[in-house]
Amino acid sequence: MTLRDIGEFGLIERIAERFPTAGFEGGSLGIGDDCAVLRRNRDELDLVTTDLLIEGSHFLREAISPRLLGRKSLAVNLSDIAAMGGECRWAFLALALPGEISVAWIDEFFDGVQERLAEAGVELLGGDTTRSNGPIVIQFTVLGSVSRAHLKLRRAARAQDLICVTDCLGDSGAGLQALLEGVARNDAVAHLIERHLDPRPQLAEGAWLGASSDVHAMMDLSDGLDSDIRRIMEQSRAGARIEVEHLPLSSQLREVAAQHAWSAWELAVSGGEDYALLCTVAPERYTVLAEAFRSRFGRELSAVGRITDRPGQLLYLRDGVQVDPSKLGFDHFKND
Ligand code: ADP
Ligand code: MG
Repeated sequence: MTLRDIGEFGLIERIAERFPTAGFEGGSLGIGDDCAVLRRNRDELDLVTTDLLIEGSHFLREAISPRLLGRKSLAVNLSDIAAMGGECRWAFLALALPGEISVAWIDEFFDGVQERLAEAGVELLGGDTTRSNGPIVIQFTVLGSVSRAHLKLRRAARAQDLICVTDCLGDSGAGLQALLEGVARNDAVAHLIERHLDPRPQLAEGAWLGASSDVHAMMDLSDGLDSDIRRIMEQSRAGARIEVEHLPLSSQLREVAAQHAWSAWELAVSGGEDYALLCTVAPERYTVLAEAFRSRFGRELSAVGRITDRPGQLLYLRDGVQVDPSKLGFDHFKND
């Protein structure tokens, strides 16, 4: 048996079995959510998350500017803090760089890091630097905090909850496809590529949803809805039904998908790196919450399906008829 057979999630499960934690009541909550949760005192919790980006696997040096790379490598970590309902505070950066990289490249990378830190009100406190004999390696660790009452875990979804997303889905996946296929740029294509290269972590949205007791489970969409909703299902021991006709698609995605005969809904379901938030909401509270979300953020809190009491069962329906997505979420070891 190889890593390819068990996949990224199989590996994480094996690690988690070896290193169980007591839960934050007992001091800390470890592997299994967007962040680790540490108990500071009765009312306050600390959050820690880290993500690794490797040239060739996560980005191509020719396809992203160093400034955007700096912004993005921080954004993916900030998004995990937002996904817990928390606020971002401090960052550490570990970097491995090949000797031939120009100082101009490094300066631009840090321009992006600095911009993103300022936008999020986060301080860089340290890190580590080393030479790489191969690819560029970037690892941010971000620390945040959340009041205990606002903490949102993946395990808190309840049967009948509405499954909601805070932004359009599939733009980033379509932007990546446009880059890989060398699609001719027009405004819509440029928009999708921007969503892929410069994702916006939904910090205000995460804190706002964290403050609502009508929101039960929450996580951020990094691997794609199909893959990520399964994490909520596993942790909440529940099932889910996604109503494909309710997936929020941007006008740009619809336009470009139509031009290139791409399936917009498959991109919305299986495309990764949208970094919208995925949450489950008490059904009787949805209308009021969505109205408040719209007046606060000027966007929809789109309900795209329901949590069910069938553990492990994920169904896709289009106008009530079951459909099968042919492409699934990205797994780092299975999709070689
Ligand atoms: P996300 O996409 O939100 O960053 P991941 O899928 O990377 O989450 O990780 C899921 C969980 O597994 C997290 O709790 C993370 O801390 C944990 N995890 C991932 N890789 C490792 C590892 N090598 N050792 C320990 N825990 C890990
Ligand atoms: Mg996450």
